[in-house]
Amino acid sequence: MKKSETGVYDGKSEFEATKLKDQKYVMQNYGRQPIQIVKGKGSILTDSEGKNYIDCVSGIAVNSIGYGDKRFVDAITKQASELIHISNLYYNKPQANLAEKLCEISGMSRVFFCNSGAEAMEAAIKLARLKTGKSKFIAAKHSFHGRTVGSLGLTYGEKYRIPFEPLVQSAEFVEFGDSEAVSDAISKDTAAVVLEPIQGEGGVHVPNDNYLQEVRKICDENGILLIFDEVQTGFGRTGKWFCKDNFNVQPDIMTMAKAIAGGLPMGAIAAREGLSFGAGEHASTFGGSPLVSAAALASIKIIEEDNLISNSFEMGKYLKEKLSSMKRKDVVSVRGKGLLVGVELDHPCGYIVNEARESGVLLNVTSGNVVRFIPPLTISKEEIDKVVDVLDNIPSQKT
Ligand SMILES: *Cc1c(COP(=O)(O)O)cnc(C)c1O
Repeated sequence: MKKSETGVYDGKSEFEATKLKDQKYVMQNYGRQPIQIVKGKGSILTDSEGKNYIDCVSGIAVNSIGYGDKRFVDAITKQASELIHISNLYYNKPQANLAEKLCEISGMSRVFFCNSGAEAMEAAIKLARLKTGKSKFIAAKHSFHGRTVGSLGLTYGEKYRIPFEPLVQSAEFVEFGDSEAVSDAISKDTAAVVLEPIQGEGGVHVPNDNYLQEVRKICDENGILLIFDEVQTGFGRTGKWFCKDNFNVQPDIMTMAKAIAGGLPMGAIAAREGLSFGAGEHASTFGGSPLVSAAALASIKIIEEDNLISNSFEMGKYLKEKLSSMKRKDVVSVRGKGLLVGVELDHPCGYIVNEARESGVLLNVTSGNVVRFIPPLTISKEEIDKVVDVLDNIPSQKT
């Protein structure tokens, strides 16, 4: 397709041209929204037609520091001009600094770097299997831990998992929030229990205050490892550095990704003293490159400098209050911590995503009837007011 002077491709808008090319050349595994995003500032995104949106999706809980932060752009620009990638055959200062920082904010003792959430889960699975010599895992119903052939075995959703069986890793799935069910599922072959401290993709399920502590105790009594998947809940999302800190529980291994590097792709695991890969036991070509490590350090610094964790806590509280006082009558519950909030409606709500978008708000629906809010941690009261007002005025079209 040729581009004319006016930015129109063969009579089509830039968006239409992109859409046609995507539909022809990209595998159609995503249900894309009919807009093309071209830039962002703070919590606001702009599409190719110049329309603005308040973003309550954040690239799926990735863009926690918001868009276009000059400090972040300067940090990655500076690092990119010096060195982008060097293999893990050599020492790398940004990586060492980041590992130290991650240990400091997580209370863990060592870190391994990779490139995504699913890869972090792979690393956690391998480390747990290596250190226990066992291969069975207990995971929760409605869990989501990624889509690689290993992590998929711990992911509950049958539509993700069943078509790919047999998988190399399987799990016994127990009710989330029921510690006795964990006890009952333990066998002599159990290596670890794997949990999201708050389930994100599964519909924003918050366990009761004691659940994770009880599971910690059960794991200790039975000599099995506890793995927390903090891929979605980490880096201030739930009003603490990590969601585990809301419950005062320390896992043996935790996984991180999504918001870790301010939008650049990175994953990591952190583990307690005594749990570590030895030489050659695991590796990643790109893991912890100077560029992504510098990005992660810059993003963490911005979270600290701008008090984004307390903003996440305060704005999350405000958002939940506003959502709870909507006039709409189809709300089953409002739940979450910090800026990981879900509103369960008594009917499927996919259409709400479209109507909100037309009104300038990007939302996302998970597990059919839960509207999920995962905005940048920079979001303001005024923006939340607008978002809730838009949602409140979308009719409940029950079917
Ligand atoms: C997104 C997510 C993953 C998978 O992360 P990818 O980077 O998409 O591989 C794993 N666990 C949780 C809890 C997630 O939210």
